[in-house]
Amino acid sequence: MVEARRILVVDDEPVVVKSCERILGGAGYEVESVATGQEGIRRAVKGAFHLVMADLKLPDLDGMELVRMLRIERPEIAIVIITGNSSVRSAAEAIRLGVSDYIEKPFTPNEITDAIGRALQTPDSRERSHNEASLMRDVLSRAAGDPVFGQHLLANVELAVSESLEADVQEICAKYGNDRARMMDIVRDVQDHFGCVSGRAMELIAKAASTHRVEVESVVSFYAFLSKELKGKVAIRLCRDVINEQAGGDRVAQAISDELGVDFGRTTPDGHISLEYTACIGMCDQAPAALVNDVVVTSLTAESARRMVRELKQHMDPRRLVRQPGDGNNAHPLVHAMVKNNIRREGPIVLAELSPGDAIRAALTVSPSQVILDIKDARLRGRGGAGFPTGVKWEFTRLASGEKKCVLCNADEGEPGTFKDRVILTQQPDLMFEGMTIAGYAVGAEVGIVYLRGEYAYLRSYLESVLDRRRGVGLLGADICDRKGFDFDISIQMGAGAYVCGEETALISSCEGLRGDPKDRPPFPAQKGYLGLPTVINNVETFCCVARILEKGSDWFSAIGSKDSTGTKLLSVSGDCERPGVYELPFGVRLRDVLEMVGARNPAAVQVGGPSGQMVGPDGFDRSVCYDDLATGGSMMVFDSSRDVLGIVADFMEFFVEESCGFCTPCRVGNVLLKDRLSDIRAGKGVPEDIEYLKNLGETIKFASRCGLGQTSANPVLTTLRNFPSLYEALVRAPRDGNRRTFDIHAALRDATAITGRKSVIFTE
Ligand code: SF4
Repeated sequence: MVEARRILVVDDEPVVVKSCERILGGAGYEVESVATGQEGIRRAVKGAFHLVMADLKLPDLDGMELVRMLRIERPEIAIVIITGNSSVRSAAEAIRLGVSDYIEKPFTPNEITDAIGRALQTPDSRERSHNEASLMRDVLSRAAGDPVFGQHLLANVELAVSESLEADVQEICAKYGNDRARMMDIVRDVQDHFGCVSGRAMELIAKAASTHRVEVESVVSFYAFLSKELKGKVAIRLCRDVINEQAGGDRVAQAISDELGVDFGRTTPDGHISLEYTACIGMCDQAPAALVNDVVVTSLTAESARRMVRELKQHMDPRRLVRQPGDGNNAHPLVHAMVKNNIRREGPIVLAELSPGDAIRAALTVSPSQVILDIKDARLRGRGGAGFPTGVKWEFTRLASGEKKCVLCNADEGEPGTFKDRVILTQQPDLMFEGMTIAGYAVGAEVGIVYLRGEYAYLRSYLESVLDRRRGVGLLGADICDRKGFDFDISIQMGAGAYVCGEETALISSCEGLRGDPKDRPPFPAQKGYLGLPTVINNVETFCCVARILEKGSDWFSAIGSKDSTGTKLLSVSGDCERPGVYELPFGVRLRDVLEMVGARNPAAVQVGGPSGQMVGPDGFDRSVCYDDLATGGSMMVFDSSRDVLGIVADFMEFFVEESCGFCTPCRVGNVLLKDRLSDIRAGKGVPEDIEYLKNLGETIKFASRCGLGQTSANPVLTTLRNFPSLYEALVRAPRDGNRRTFDIHAALRDATAITGRKSVIFTE
């Protein structure tokens, strides 16, 4: 128990303050009071108080903001909130934020001294979270006057006090062997079951998996699709990438928000539906699109979005939103998605017919080393964009010491504008699994994992069924194709919304049940990857190429494409064109020919390779798509002359700022500085020296960042400086008096003006 006697009362009602002072003063506490929230925060943060007692209705500030601020700035201070009769909802929210207790007006002397006493006995956040259940129970008893909110509250209470919480979490952990390396599966299941991973659930998980709560919390807080706050039973996540915005995403957003009656980032008062933005969900060819839980809703308009919300309110079943399933396997009962494949050009490698097992059987006719030689002879390079020779990577893994090895497939295509893996996973999973199995044979691995991005969760059951079928016919499991001792199996590991996990070492961290933090290299994954095992990691398309090389031969494969970029490339084309979709084309194809093929309308710029790639103008349309010229992991966004190129660059920079894992300074801070200087230039506040500044800073970020995300994050700025210099030059000008304006007093005063409601007099020359 903490000896604590100093209390700050934040309330603007003199009668309440007076009675607090009288009652608490009489009980031996030292009491100070202030009437406004701003002053309350200032005093509480700076003063030596043990407890703050605050009204949730303050004249200058929502009391909830005060609670939030104190929980961040002074988590050790106990907080008791004072609520009115009608603020059940606020009380519940404040309890979830971690207040120690609450008291309802009008209160008796005993009620207030009891509440203060209880709060001071539970100053620790851990104890406070244990206290949450009883507080919630208490608040529930007041919910009768607010029946709609009562349901929401009930959900919270069920979550907080459920006697089955402990048993259910334990059962989920046991399902994964209480293995902390399965943390992603555990927290995803807990989130599905309870609508969030609450503080109590985190403690239970930590106990079961023999780790610390902070480890669990670090995972939950890292991924966009996980939350420790209770979300609605249905979560609508509207994609907010450039292509969605240009396709009318703003109008759709407004329609959904109006129909739900809540802003983005909020949950409806009945607790049924949450509304959020999310990064690219891999549907740019049918934008605007949204995820409704795991269900994908495509080609939204303001009208269809309103309809969708109205329907959801009636049945709360996202699957019923799919009336007309898409083509191919999108109509398979285990997929049941309205997604369209939009395959516009089938090539001979990835999208051609396949007879399952043929490629594996061909591989088994030669030795594992010969398989690697065949891959090398085919001059196959990784399709993720960097283009590292696949055979060399496999050889490193094969030669690495270690009895156990692993094959990882990167199905986390998060690069905005990319969606070709979605189509492969839907139509050609056998080809991909075949390539992984061949990798297992070549490097001597028994374990294969597909890391599937959370946005493609709708494909999981179908993919699992394909794996089952392959096991059933001896293409996975023990003694594959009757080859004694060739054992290999594949499991699916789900992601949960983090772009950085497309980086191979971050992906490995995520598979290991950690935050998706990139790792230092060396050691490289081929030497020490997943759980320390030598690991081959390639992307979906690369494994498909592997299977085809073994099936048709390396000579056949290397005759397609160009000398240093053999084979074909799947392009995901979106934006201002008549025929967005997936095109399998030989490497070396001219960009101009691609634009003609896709029906580009008056193209003025093309983003090749997504935000981390390069923006090319008409001067570059005769360049070729290949590793040594226009390298791309698959994304190709077309922009016509009506688009604001620097606005697009600003959006891309915003994306990188958001997605940086924050580990290293060049990426974490540098990208913010780039974004801010670009924003100044776009606002007409740039000077000619800014161009050099952007170049130097961009190159520094590229050079000094720790992983691929940071090393490519400055590309939107750097490539437009190179290919569209006139856009920058037209916006910067030397100041007339020679002085650079480094301080904007109007902007600096904006928040203070809003809070005080007073205008400042600014004296200028
Ligand atoms: Fe994280 Fe960015 Fe550094 Fe990569 S470069 S480790 S994403 S901060």
